[in-house]
Amino acid sequence: MAPSFEPTTAVVTAARAAATTRAGLRSALGLVSAGLVLVSAGLVGECGAVMISRYVGGPDASYVNHWWAIALIGVRKRRAPCHAPPLPVTREAWESSPVAKSTMTRTAKPSSAQIPPRVSDLLRVPPGPVDLAAIATGDTPGFTGSGKADGKAAIRRLAPRLADLQEQLYAEGHTEGPTAGRRSLLLVLQGMDTAGKGGTVEHVLGLMNPMGVQYHAFKKPTVEEREHHFLWRVKRRLPPPGIVGVFDRSHYEDVVVVRVHELVPADQWSCRYDVINSFEEKLASSSTIVKCFLHISKEQQRKRLLARLDDPAKHWKYDPADLTERAYWDDYQQAYSVALRECNTEAAPWYVVPADHKWYRNWAITNILAERLAEMALAWPTPGGWSLEEQRAQLAADQ
Ligand code: AMP
Ligand code: MG
Repeated sequence: MAPSFEPTTAVVTAARAAATTRAGLRSALGLVSAGLVLVSAGLVGECGAVMISRYVGGPDASYVNHWWAIALIGVRKRRAPCHAPPLPVTREAWESSPVAKSTMTRTAKPSSAQIPPRVSDLLRVPPGPVDLAAIATGDTPGFTGSGKADGKAAIRRLAPRLADLQEQLYAEGHTEGPTAGRRSLLLVLQGMDTAGKGGTVEHVLGLMNPMGVQYHAFKKPTVEEREHHFLWRVKRRLPPPGIVGVFDRSHYEDVVVVRVHELVPADQWSCRYDVINSFEEKLASSSTIVKCFLHISKEQQRKRLLARLDDPAKHWKYDPADLTERAYWDDYQQAYSVALRECNTEAAPWYVVPADHKWYRNWAITNILAERLAEMALAWPTPGGWSLEEQRAQLAADQ
């Protein structure tokens, strides 16, 4: 967005005085002001350009300059849209995209040396309206291998990195001294029944040391929970310093299932988006918030429900109520679209993870977590309150 522009009084007064002195001077000034318009359009955008042309040329002599400004606006608009479109999602698409090409030209490196786009950038919900129907559930954005086996191998390769980052977070939260920290990470998992919240916990959080993971599943509120504000039960489950917290469902149920079934009056749930945003903004000062919507198709859900019925080892996961909720599929998609739009903030962004392929879902969330943990610039804590040399010397003497 172009910054706002306020010409100083001195510049404006001088320009006006000069513009009214002589006719000859006026045409020369026309050239100068055209130059200023060029610069201002480049620096401050169309508003700045038109303002300068008005101030310098005066109200009656500004049309030529306006044309300069308008021409430049056209160039600027074509070169730089206000909101960059989402990055292309496959390597081929990425490498053939104008963004990648311009990077390649600037750096003059072969395409194999390009840094692949981060999964967290690819799956991040862009600002504005969200149309879940337009987001493919079976795609594999950012994945360059050839399928399930490659996906699993890629997760295995990434696992040690994720585990190290998690251990650094844990260490930071569990040491004294100058590098001790109070930070945590909260992973919020939302999605339709069978979308893979449990599978994510098993296969992605399972890569971490359980000592540093705190899991909680939010069910239908108990009688006690219903007596409190909807965030009461959520606040009690937030991860302490050093811990990766996982919410299997969350406060988003209070604007999704509650909205679909009108469990509280509309004037109550409709205020909750703002309440959630300010809650998450405050939380983000100590916790990295990663919100993943696991996006499956209705057909994929049907297959997974059938698979549960077909396998005695999965009967415990089957709930006839899932079929009742399935009948509200479109209402749920709508309620999720609104939640993703209303609560997609810088402090707590949403990611839509295509989840028809379980391996891709696991690969994507493993990457997102590793990327977001890496952003935290974690490091192994240095000794606090004791000396390395002294301890070494004591052990050396103790033989
Ligand atoms: P599951 O995660 O499949 O074990 O199911 C938990 C159920 O609890 C889901 O049907 C959720 O929609 C429901 N649930 C979770 N939170 C709330 C809430 N705040 N209000 C009403 N139902 C909820
Ligand atoms: Mg269920």
